[in-house]
Amino acid sequence: MDRNRDLFDSWDSYQRTCRELSRVMAGRPGAQVRLAKKTSNLFRTRTEAAAQKLDVRRLDRVIEIDTERRIAEVEGMTTFEDFADATLPKGLRPPVVPELKTITVGGAVSGLGIEASSFKHGLVHETVEEMEILCGDGTIRVCRPDNENADLFHAVPNSYGTLGYILRLRIKLLPAGPLVKLIHRRFSDRTPFLSAMEAACAKSPHAPDFVEGVAFTPDDFVLTTARFTHEQGPLSDYKGLQIYYRSLHSRTEDLMTVRDFLWRWDPDWFWCSRSFGMQNPLLRRLLGRWMLRSSAYWKIQSLYRRWKFAERIHAMRKIMRLPVEHCEQVIQDVEIPIGKSPEFIEFFFREIDIRPCWICPVRPLNAAGSWTLYAMEPGALYLNFGFWGSVRTFSDQTAGHFNRRIEKIVNRLGGRKSLYSTSFFTEDEFRRIYNGIEYQKLKSKFDPQDAFPGLYQKTVVGN
Ligand SMILES: Cc1cc2nc3c(=O)[nH]c(=O)nc-3n(C[C@H](O)[C@H](O)[C@H](O)COP(=O)(O)OP(=O)(O)OC[C@H]3O[C@@H](n4cnc5c(N)ncnc54)[C@H](O)[C@@H]3O)c2cc1C
Repeated sequence: MDRNRDLFDSWDSYQRTCRELSRVMAGRPGAQVRLAKKTSNLFRTRTEAAAQKLDVRRLDRVIEIDTERRIAEVEGMTTFEDFADATLPKGLRPPVVPELKTITVGGAVSGLGIEASSFKHGLVHETVEEMEILCGDGTIRVCRPDNENADLFHAVPNSYGTLGYILRLRIKLLPAGPLVKLIHRRFSDRTPFLSAMEAACAKSPHAPDFVEGVAFTPDDFVLTTARFTHEQGPLSDYKGLQIYYRSLHSRTEDLMTVRDFLWRWDPDWFWCSRSFGMQNPLLRRLLGRWMLRSSAYWKIQSLYRRWKFAERIHAMRKIMRLPVEHCEQVIQDVEIPIGKSPEFIEFFFREIDIRPCWICPVRPLNAAGSWTLYAMEPGALYLNFGFWGSVRTFSDQTAGHFNRRIEKIVNRLGGRKSLYSTSFFTEDEFRRIYNGIEYQKLKSKFDPQDAFPGLYQKTVVGN
C-alpha cells in the first residue's frame, strides 16, 4: 500500500456524524441542499443555485470488513481507491470497482458504476445489500430489498441524490488474487471482435474475471480478457513513463499486481491525459508525481470550465479576426444491447468519431428489472460505450446537436444513457425513459418538501 491514511472509521464516529447530519437536514432553512464533498466525476456544468451545502466529507471511510461473511460496511463518500485498499490486504475486493480512483461508493450507486467485471457481477448497485439513506426531512432510513423501505432501495440507482443521500452501504465482497494476467487480442473488423467479446462473456465457470475492449478506429479493435493468477513474472507498471492504453498495441500479454490492475486506466484518465500534454515523456518525468491521477486532470478541467477558458479564447480570436473552430463537448457513456452494437458502432464512427472508445460488457443480474429508474433486461448482455472528447460543429447546428443524435439512437436501439454528463432530453422523453411516473410518486413520498432538486431539473436543466 502506498498511502498512510487511516482507511477505517468506528461505528461510534459514523453514528455521531449521522446524528449531526440528520439534525442539520431537519433544521434546514427551506433552501435546497447540495453535497459538499472532496471529489467529483460529474461532467455536467451547473449553475450554483442558492443551495445549502451539506458537509458529508467525514463519511469517507470503511467501517467494518467481515471476512467470514464477506461483506463490508462502507460510508457513502468513501472513494473506491480507499475501499479497495481496505479490502485487498484481507484477500478480498469489491466485485465491481469503477476505473477511476476518486469515484465514491455512494456516487457510483446513486449514479451508475460499471467496470470490466460487470459482465459477471452487474453494476455497482447490484453488489449492495443494505443502505442507510438521509431523506429530505432529516429521517435516516435503513433500506434493504426486502424491508419496509424496499421502494427507496430500488429507486436510488440513477437518482443522483434527488431522493436522499446514501450515508452507509453494506457491500458484498469477493476473493481477490495477488496478481492479474491480461491477454490482448487485436481485430481489424468489428464483427469478429464483437463475437469474441460475446464468447468471452459467456456464462461459464471458465469465464475470465474481467473483459473489456477498446475501439481505436473503425478497423482496429482490441479485446482484453484478464484473470487473477498466482503465476509469477515481470510486472508492468503504468503509473510512470509507460502508458496503459498504448500497451494494448504493443503487447499480447501482461501481468500486474491486483492494485495496479484495478487502477490501470487512472494515471492517464483512460487516454484523456493527452489533452493535458501528459503523454509527453519529459512532462511525465517532470510532473508525473502530481499529474498522473484522474483527480489532477479533473481539477484542471473544472478550473478551465469555471474560468470559461474556451469562450475567452474564442472571443480573442474573433477580435483578432482569426478563424474560430466550434466544438461540441461529447462526454458520454451509453449501454447498448450487444445485438444492436454493430449499428451503434457504425453510427459512432460515421457521426461522432471520438477516438478511442472504451467498450465494456455489462450483464445486469436477475433482479435487474426491479431497479425503478434504470431498468435493464435481466441477464441480457449490453455493451457500454464510453467516449469523452469533442466533435467539430458548425454555427448552423443547434446546441447539443451531436449529444442529441446520440440520445436518439440509444433510445431507438433499446439502450440506456448515463446521466453524469450533459443531456438534452425533453421532459416528456425523459419521463418515459427513466420511469417518471414512479419517480414522482417516490419523490412525493420521500422528499415532499423538495429538499433536493428533481431528477430532470438536476441532470438535464442543470441546476
Ligand atoms: C471520463 C470519465 C470516465 C468514466 N469512467 C467510468 C468508469 O469507468 N466506470 C464507471 O462506473 N463510471 C465512470 N464514469 C462515471 C462516474 O462513475 C459517475 O460520474 C459517478 O456518478 C461519479 O461518482 P462520484 O462519486 O464521483 O460522485 P459525484 O460526481 O460527486 O456525484 C455524482 C452524483 O451523485 C450524487 N451523489 C454523490 N454521492 C452521493 C451519495 N452518497 N448519496 C446520494 N447521491 C450522491 C451527487 O449529488 C451527484 O448528483 C466516468 C466518468 C467520466 C467523466
